[in-house]
Amino acid sequence: RIAYVNGRYVAHRDAAVHIEDRGYQFADGVYEVCEVARGFIVDMTRHLERLDRSLRELAMAWPVDRKALAIIVREVVRRNRVVNGLVYLQVTRGVAPRDHVFPSPDTPSSLVVTAKRVDPAASARKAESGVKVITVPENRWERVDIKTIGLLPNVLAKQKAKEAGAQEAWFVDPDGTVKEGGSTNAWIVTRDGALVTRPADTGILRGITRTTIFDVAAKLGLRIEERAFTVDEAKTAREAFVSSATLIAMPVVAIDGQAVANGHPGSVTLSLRQAFFDVAEKSPA
Ligand code: PLP
Repeated sequence: RIAYVNGRYVAHRDAAVHIEDRGYQFADGVYEVCEVARGFIVDMTRHLERLDRSLRELAMAWPVDRKALAIIVREVVRRNRVVNGLVYLQVTRGVAPRDHVFPSPDTPSSLVVTAKRVDPAASARKAESGVKVITVPENRWERVDIKTIGLLPNVLAKQKAKEAGAQEAWFVDPDGTVKEGGSTNAWIVTRDGALVTRPADTGILRGITRTTIFDVAAKLGLRIEERAFTVDEAKTAREAFVSSATLIAMPVVAIDGQAVANGHPGSVTLSLRQAFFDVAEKSPA
């Protein structure tokens, strides 16, 4: 495997950043994960647009310009011969002697890009069985709309899920409404077939997959209600699912050990999943 690290393509096993990289010391960085499907990078424009927003919100410079980054992403995909898989890219505020305040403005930001293959058959099998989620109290900061590498609450929540035999944890506000998963957005399907997901300006990450599912829903003639929903509403919904670049639309079959509907993946979720690739933007790798 090959990784890109600050201007060089290097063997993945030797890829490293300096110990004084601010990503390492302060989680002072942002990232993106893009899906690669059938040789195409999915929704690359939207991912780079969100990266631009994350960088701007944190007053961080682009490590290279947007066109150059797109070329590097393609090159990493190509060099790893990824046809189906994931691209990970991370930008940090660079390497500087440890000090909380920003380093001098001429400090170049760090850029790392990796890619890995994912077996599409394994993803399909996962969608056939669906995933289980647990709920945990929301304990993250207010700026989860920025896709930062500071993911400790998400790490702890997802570990707790794993220990409970589940695959995702939903962060829940004190009022009982679901925010999002540790690495996914949360959705339900109502009895009358509408898709419900929380408004993106209410303490969640605006998922790229979430945005594209709005387009998929329009194409399939499905109504979307952008509003908060409670854990109780999700437990009694017709379907529930999570979305991310890694999982696309993935059925949720149980919440806190309680089956959703008949405990099997729902047909609306599976139809969204099926139509997703046709609707999404496809950039040749
Ligand atoms: N919410 C959180 C907290 C995430 O970490 C992610 C993805 O990693 C998502 C939502 C889904 O976003 P996307 O669809 O862009 O992958």
